[in-house]
Amino acid sequence: MRFSRFYLPTLKEDPAEAEVISHRLMLRAGMIRKLAAGIYSYLPLGLKAVQNVERIVRAEMDRAGAQELLLPGVQPAELWQESGRWERYGRELLRLKDRHGREFCLGPTHEEVITDLVRHEVRSYRQLPLNLYQVQTKFRDEIRPRFGLMRGREFVMKDAYSFDADDPGAEASYAAMRDAYSRIFRRCGLDFRAVEADSGAIGGSFSHEFVVLASSGEDAVATCTACDYAANIEKAERAGACGTEPESAGAAAVPALAEVETPGCRSIEDVCAFFGIEPVAALKSMVYESDRGLVLAVVTGDRQVSETKLKARLGVPWVQLAEAEAIRAACGAGSGFLGPVDTPLAVIADRGVPVQGPAVCGANRDGRHLRDVLCGRDFSPSVVADIVEVHAGDACPRCGGELRIVRGIEVGHIFKLGTKYSEAMGATFQDRDGEERPLVMGCYGIGIGRTVAAAIEQNHDDDGIIMPWAIAPFKVAVLCLDEKHDEVRAFSERLYEELRRRGIDVLLDDRAERPGIKFKDADLIGAPLRLTVGRKGYGRGIFEARDRRTRETIELPVDDFTPLWQFVERMRADDQGLPPL
Ligand code: ATP
Ligand code: MG
Repeated sequence: MRFSRFYLPTLKEDPAEAEVISHRLMLRAGMIRKLAAGIYSYLPLGLKAVQNVERIVRAEMDRAGAQELLLPGVQPAELWQESGRWERYGRELLRLKDRHGREFCLGPTHEEVITDLVRHEVRSYRQLPLNLYQVQTKFRDEIRPRFGLMRGREFVMKDAYSFDADDPGAEASYAAMRDAYSRIFRRCGLDFRAVEADSGAIGGSFSHEFVVLASSGEDAVATCTACDYAANIEKAERAGACGTEPESAGAAAVPALAEVETPGCRSIEDVCAFFGIEPVAALKSMVYESDRGLVLAVVTGDRQVSETKLKARLGVPWVQLAEAEAIRAACGAGSGFLGPVDTPLAVIADRGVPVQGPAVCGANRDGRHLRDVLCGRDFSPSVVADIVEVHAGDACPRCGGELRIVRGIEVGHIFKLGTKYSEAMGATFQDRDGEERPLVMGCYGIGIGRTVAAAIEQNHDDDGIIMPWAIAPFKVAVLCLDEKHDEVRAFSERLYEELRRRGIDVLLDDRAERPGIKFKDADLIGAPLRLTVGRKGYGRGIFEARDRRTRETIELPVDDFTPLWQFVERMRADDQGLPPL
């Protein structure tokens, strides 16, 4: 492509609306433009990057035995009513009516449509296993669309759905997708982790998220510094502090509990300052509401309740903090003065609570706390379970090593669904014995645009994007610095043609612009390799090659391209962390 003909509207200034670097750079580099909140046009440069990711995704999905199809974007309400999600999905589902008043939605995901398709066609175990995928535009009316393609409302997703005859089969399908995903993100040149993720309370299913490590990421991940344990913070666990029996050692020496007036001491900080104790020696008691009523969650004062874990331990579909009036009606005191001693509520205590020695907690009377409270002596939780978020420095549940917390961007999510949809929608097959059984399903998503954004989030510097080779819209930028000089122009053209002949995406900057501008634009759009042809160098029989990432610059001879091809090969291999796949 010639720069002079290419629709590449770059911006000199940082756009004010962009909060994260990838969004800023994608706007500046002329990759995307906003049409409405969370809705973007892909300009030619952006589309090329997106298509490069799609190409890798398709290649690996095909290699794993999945088959591509394309499902409709507009879906009838009846299917969603059948699965029960018409009510449950909430306001991310954009609903619409046709001219006859029939209800539809814009597909945010396609479990219903694919299950409907398959239930009409698949009859026998002989047709299994089956894995079908598409690369398609989704619509989710996100509450806070932001960060450009990272969290859009309209976005492109690759979604795949597997169908198996039994659980071991479904697990094999899941493992194949897990491998495929690792290969995809490795080929994209990304630093990522496959992390254990929450899969909701229903069913014994499991899931992994593929998270690209980046400080701007919305997700927090606990990773072990010693082994390969990695889990979303919502679900990560810790070793130790796991006594299920109340601690008894030394309990005899602890005096009986005593009530103390603590006016105005509502927060853990207030209580700690008042009693001169560390947060770990104070108990935090919070009332949560679920469809099974109220519970009192008790954790040590240095910890946060993980609502995801609480939900899972209680086996309920949702939890939320109870309203002030409900708390007062049930406990006789306001939040800040609650505690597990003589509470009318069922107590679910974190595993850290029983091993904690004497503690301070609310007295269930406004303006009062209890001191010298012992778990097991003064109160007995109905459940002791892991219900808090892990901290950096906690022990790894697998090897005891030290956990650290890193931030990242979820680019892919794989999910073992089991028979949730097939049972709800009657998608069955006949097994070997002629018995009718529900299909065992899995679903697997990759955000294509989000992957491009994540790649930029992870690969940039002050001058712009450093595109990983595989994703880069242009692998090479040829800068002709003296376009009026016949020989320099002719040689630049020759380089351009040679690269094209080898199937390498190349941008020839043939514009009548100052060299400074050409350098700036090449750095901004992030072609991994920059080749510069100028009058002076050409006179000496050389042109210049520069690695965008390392800034390593070498001179190459104009009369022999062998060293150039070697340089290109090395860059391609380095970037994708090859040995070849
Ligand atoms: P998130 O927690 O970020 O909202 P999700 O769990 O809703 O993601 P899935 O339903 O698992 O996402 O969708 C599969 C993939 O689609 C995600 O891993 C992500 O890469 C991508 N994706 C989801 N929502 C968006 C969005 N609003 N904009 C861009 N990509 C998205
Ligand atoms: Mg979401």
